[in-house]
Amino acid sequence: MHQTDVLVIGKGNAALCAALAARDCGVNVTVLEAAPPEESGGNSRFAGGVMRFAYDGAADLQRVTDIPADEVDTVDWEHNTQDEFYDDLYKVTAFRTDERLSELLVTRSLDAMAWLRSQGARFVPNYRHQSAVVDGKRHFFGRMPLIAHGGGPGLVQSLTDTVERKGVKIFYDTRAVSLIYDGERVVGARTKSSGKPVDFHAKAVVLACGGFESNPEWRTRYLGPGWELAKVRGTRFNMGDGLRMALDIGACPYGNWSGRHAVSWERYAPEFGDLSLPESSYRHSYPLSLMINVEGKRFVDEGADFYNYTYAKYGAEVLRQPAQAAWQVFDAKVKHLLRPEYGDRRVTKVSANTLEELAAGMEGINQAAFLKTVHEFNAAVRKDVSFDHSVRDGRSTVGIDPPKSNWANPLDTPPYEAYAITCGITFTFGGVRIVPESGQVVDVNLHPIPGLYAAGEMVGGIFYFNYPAGTGLVSGAVFGRIAGDGAGEAVRQQ
Ligand SMILES: Cc1cc2nc3c(=O)[nH]c(=O)nc-3n(C[C@H](O)[C@H](O)[C@H](O)COP(=O)(O)OP(=O)(O)OC[C@H]3O[C@@H](n4cnc5c(N)ncnc54)[C@H](O)[C@@H]3O)c2cc1C
Repeated sequence: MHQTDVLVIGKGNAALCAALAARDCGVNVTVLEAAPPEESGGNSRFAGGVMRFAYDGAADLQRVTDIPADEVDTVDWEHNTQDEFYDDLYKVTAFRTDERLSELLVTRSLDAMAWLRSQGARFVPNYRHQSAVVDGKRHFFGRMPLIAHGGGPGLVQSLTDTVERKGVKIFYDTRAVSLIYDGERVVGARTKSSGKPVDFHAKAVVLACGGFESNPEWRTRYLGPGWELAKVRGTRFNMGDGLRMALDIGACPYGNWSGRHAVSWERYAPEFGDLSLPESSYRHSYPLSLMINVEGKRFVDEGADFYNYTYAKYGAEVLRQPAQAAWQVFDAKVKHLLRPEYGDRRVTKVSANTLEELAAGMEGINQAAFLKTVHEFNAAVRKDVSFDHSVRDGRSTVGIDPPKSNWANPLDTPPYEAYAITCGITFTFGGVRIVPESGQVVDVNLHPIPGLYAAGEMVGGIFYFNYPAGTGLVSGAVFGRIAGDGAGEAVRQQ
């Protein structure tokens, strides 16, 4: 049996932020991590590390990172004003996002970034994916100019170092299995620690142990038939335990329980993410492609927007296709614009000098239908608008369904390449309901449950249907900090 003040369950970004915020209230903090050290850190450790937060220009970015003096003016750093962040969040969630949660997310996002920096995290300009040199000047696009140094692994490592330096004890290979609840307040958690049952008693518990994306049975139950067949992009440890434990004692479910973040993903990727090659299965360059299923048909507007705003919902569209699969097809004109992982050794791809040869190599595809689709598409492209991948260029198609709204190029320049994809699930949107200002979990009568807090993927009500890229880590930092602070202050005042 162990005793602590604040018990944080999970060791991803949200949990580490909660642990740091609670510790800064001057109370004892203990962290429980289901995974062994080498697999610890949750989805946060798999993340690319792009960060979406509100900022007005380079001066705000300098609160978060050191921008060399000569680059402050020579680079177009773009902006993501609070209004723009709200617009993006409201638009992609079809105006469903919880008003108060999204307000806190948006208005506290820049502060959270500066706070992460003060806790040892480092951020650098995201030149690799979110910028382009146009007429001799570097421009950012997509409203995410900064990335965690070392990506998700770098972020988790730096926060882990700080947590340990501040005297927080981390128990690895320790899976919380239930909450210790006296009928009125939560006073700890029962765990399986290195195979043995161990109880941890605490004055407050913060649940930050992710969603249920790794659990095929829950995916089928809540997301629907077929979701057990999705590949998991990240950790194998997020089985929905935190949600189950909270619901078991009467916590109120909240948000889009049938919703999830899911993307186009290497068709033959392993069952879970691979920390040694975390980005090798990404297939995010599809706005430059035609996505075609095995029946030879297109099924989405590949160019509806920058990938940031469509990738998280298009995975579900791929899952709906026959064999839960499709192809992304490119020609030589855009090859140099593809993300680096398209050149990885793990890709499943076909290359050919004619469309007919390409079709012949695309396993299982209806070749005649594929060629018809491509020829109709080529004829529908508006050639009067020029192509520019760094803006929504409006180079669209006319008279076909689905249309392609931007970056439409005829497939006419060999060699052609087709990449096989399936659906990769990132995380689930359903969660528990919290008091936004304190992170305290509420029960089904909407009364706060004494001693219980939640953060990160476990908080329901923020994302519905879709998600703007780069929001997960920032949301984890904002609400991790709120929950850690809420729990730490409550304990301090006891
Ligand atoms: C491949 C990939 C790329 C991504 N890229 C980005 C990006 O660039 N930018 C961005 O903002 N977001 C990105 N995301 C999303 C982002 O990673 C998540 O939104 C975020 O990490 C969620 O943080 P979290 O702390 O809530 O959960 P997690 O980081 O998943 O942490 C959950 C923790 O709980 C632990 N746990 C689970 N069950 C138990 C239990 N019963 N007892 C104890 N511990 C338990 C897990 O082991 C883990 O440590 C990406 C995700 C993936 C998978």
